[in-house]
Amino acid sequence: NQDEEKLTEYLDELEFLAFTAGATVQKRFTQKLTQPDSKTFIGSGKAIEIKEYVKENEIGTVIFDDELSPSQLKNLEREMEVKILDRTNLILDIFAQRAQTSYARTQVELAQYQYLLPRLTRMWTHLERQKGGIGMRGPGETEIETDRRIIRDRITLLKDKLKTIDKQMATQRNNRGKVVRAALVGYTNVGKSTLMNSISKSEVFAENKLFATLDTTVRKVVIGNLPFLLTDTVGFIRKLPTQLVESFKSTLDEVREADLLIHVVDISHESFEDHIESVNHILMEINAHQKPMIMVFNKIDDFSYEKKDEDDLTPSTRKNISLEEWKKTWMAKSKYPTVFISALTKENFPEMKKMIYDEVMKIHISRFPYND
Ligand code: GDP
Repeated sequence: NQDEEKLTEYLDELEFLAFTAGATVQKRFTQKLTQPDSKTFIGSGKAIEIKEYVKENEIGTVIFDDELSPSQLKNLEREMEVKILDRTNLILDIFAQRAQTSYARTQVELAQYQYLLPRLTRMWTHLERQKGGIGMRGPGETEIETDRRIIRDRITLLKDKLKTIDKQMATQRNNRGKVVRAALVGYTNVGKSTLMNSISKSEVFAENKLFATLDTTVRKVVIGNLPFLLTDTVGFIRKLPTQLVESFKSTLDEVREADLLIHVVDISHESFEDHIESVNHILMEINAHQKPMIMVFNKIDDFSYEKKDEDDLTPSTRKNISLEEWKKTWMAKSKYPTVFISALTKENFPEMKKMIYDEVMKIHISRFPYND
């Protein structure tokens, strides 16, 4: 039952990703296997079932929630005669659509080529190439048939280009001197951009789609006469393609080099604990998990739960815990300062600002011990 709940959540998220990329989802298929089929990922019966559905309903694309191996992708496309996207390709596509600076575009292009390289011989590259659509933006459109060597050269070139920009960005970061730097981190769509806007009164693009933020923005913020820099970073997500973790190194450098992390959580989301775990996992991967951190639980205006009757003795589940009860769980034992807010209604903003001020001040004082 719990497994099923998880599965629904995962597919909800995948559907949201598909929506962000511009697709509408008609039907979901699931399958229980002890292990994915090495040749086709799903079993042959399931493949036939999907194929028939696709035919009958003129479906254009089948999306898988995992990364498929190059041969699985090829076999599935041959068998089902439809364009197949996996989670990685879908995420890369969204990043490609949303990259705004030349740096971000270069990063995405690199990640797309790295994804493409072992998958060059795919069938739909011939069939579907002209049509475009999800998974076909970026390098896939024009250069898919050119040979691997050219792509490898391009990868080398892009890496060099990124290295140059990396250096420039590192210099820029150095030039920011000793001003305290705070970075907003958190799962995608939790409200980081909204919070950035309301704290710094700037206009950062916020919308209810995954990865609205791709490029980092840095703003100077002043709370109670204390200036510091606030960075809005790319949203983290479960199973972030490894190609992206690598190529977004610099974006993540902002996090790595921050003095203070402000971890934003969407507490109205059923899987918020999983989200926290995913974010902590990435922080660990980039070795930023020991930094001072503030936990900001956002969207309390949207928090809802299934109220239990007073004499109902059934045990608490994630679904029927009230906010007050949540606060007494592991949250109470957290070693980080914790605050519950709504970035939309600005509830508890003074408390949050005070918390940020206190943490920034601590770091500031450790740097300038003799000033007052
Ligand atoms: P980001 O991906 O973390 O930068 O998230 P955004 O700032 O783009 O916000 C994602 C969505 O959540 C947007 O539709 C926001 O309007 C919405 N949102 C952000 N903060 C709140 C909040 O406190 N309450 C509610 N109900 N929605 C919020």
